[in-house]
Amino acid sequence: MFIYLNVHNIFKPAFLKPMKKSVTSKELARERIETLFTHARERLAYAKRYIALARKIATRAKTPIPKHLKRQFCKTCNSLLVFGKNATLRQRGALIIRCLDCGTIKRIPLRKQ
Ligand SMILES: [Zn+2]
Repeated sequence: MFIYLNVHNIFKPAFLKPMKKSVTSKELARERIETLFTHARERLAYAKRYIALARKIATRAKTPIPKHLKRQFCKTCNSLLVFGKNATLRQRGALIIRCLDCGTIKRIPLRKQ
């Protein structure tokens, strides 16, 4: 009878093995971020909390927040940016988004054609 022994697994302690993060965990994180942003839009009173949670999930799962959501919150005060209410959007060679809650300015350069 042949008994297969995985030598590498025996001599390598568990803490030395590289942590494998499955692709599904990242997909799950992305899904959670999307749902948290939809909840933030529905309940503006809790928007800051939802966005803080979404950002925490993104850092834990090592996934970037999607581009279209990245422009919808202020990274300084975590508030949901609603243009015309608590944020302004101007175009001066770049998109200039200003948060009216804390005054932070975000510049998104436009590509030259
Ligand atoms: Zn802000």
